[in-house]
Amino acid sequence: MFSYRHAFHAGNHADVLKHLVLIATVKHLTQKPAALMVVDTHAGAGLYRLDDDYARTSGEAAEGILKLVAAEAVHAVPAIADYLAAVRQVNRGAALRLYPGSPFVIQQHLREDARDRLKLFEMHPTDAQALAAHVAQLEAGRMVSIARQDGFESLKSLLPPPSRRGLVLIDPSYEIKSDYAKVVACLQDSLKRFATGTYAVWYPIIPRPEAHELPRRLKTLANQAHKPWLHATLSIGQREEPVQPLEPGQAPRRPGLSASGMFIVNPPHTLKATLAEALPQLLAVLGRGRGKGQTLETGG
Ligand code: SAM
Repeated sequence: MFSYRHAFHAGNHADVLKHLVLIATVKHLTQKPAALMVVDTHAGAGLYRLDDDYARTSGEAAEGILKLVAAEAVHAVPAIADYLAAVRQVNRGAALRLYPGSPFVIQQHLREDARDRLKLFEMHPTDAQALAAHVAQLEAGRMVSIARQDGFESLKSLLPPPSRRGLVLIDPSYEIKSDYAKVVACLQDSLKRFATGTYAVWYPIIPRPEAHELPRRLKTLANQAHKPWLHATLSIGQREEPVQPLEPGQAPRRPGLSASGMFIVNPPHTLKATLAEALPQLLAVLGRGRGKGQTLETGG
């Protein structure tokens, strides 16, 4: 338990997919004047260094955000432009030293005057402390609350939000396999409490039965609840060359995650068109070998 640290993975291809979809969703939901409540059940540390030991050891941002930043030809695609703007917003100057996690990319789009709210949950003691320190630096920190509590459980008491407008990001680390079942149970319970909320679930595409079955279970759940859904995946494919150590003498690096998905219940009606334009461009830049691909499907 708690061996997962998002700092190793910040800005990788999975974060690119997750945060791009998240921004497109929040941007749409904040077009209406009524207050929006956003809940991030597994918030992480909020802000990550791209030049510290975690990032350097994994080298994952090099195959995600850093590759995208270098690919100027796709920067005009609106969803990619919005995503890159969110990353640039936490950096001063041209060099990218910091990467914003979900709390920051969400908060950037919330409105103080509309009384939007962001509720963050993070259980890891170190990450919860770092998250609190990072949020304390925000001018708009009053709209954000942080609790070192179980996000799955804590969500229950927040639904439905007073304004009846809400977005929930469910982004566990899946380091224990019970997380897969918890995601399904959490979504099922949440839809009973707040049927019109928008729910975004991130998941890894890995050769594990629970991971393989998760999107199918989520589709069944959304269909039974008669709710529209959107499912987007991005696979950068296998590496063609062996994973070299970053420094001479270091142990070879593990290949790492090559694919992930986002499943959205009650997505904005514009999201499919937005992603249909952006996903092929993301793949063209981030795809690296055998098995690369992207999918986009909707239902309900
Ligand atoms: N959402 C973050 C982002 O996109 O920047 C990344 C979150 S990371 C994938 C998952 C986080 O959930 C880890 O920081 C982990 O410590 C935390 N965590 C694990 N179990 C939890 C639980 N039951 N409730 C809240 N947080 C939990």
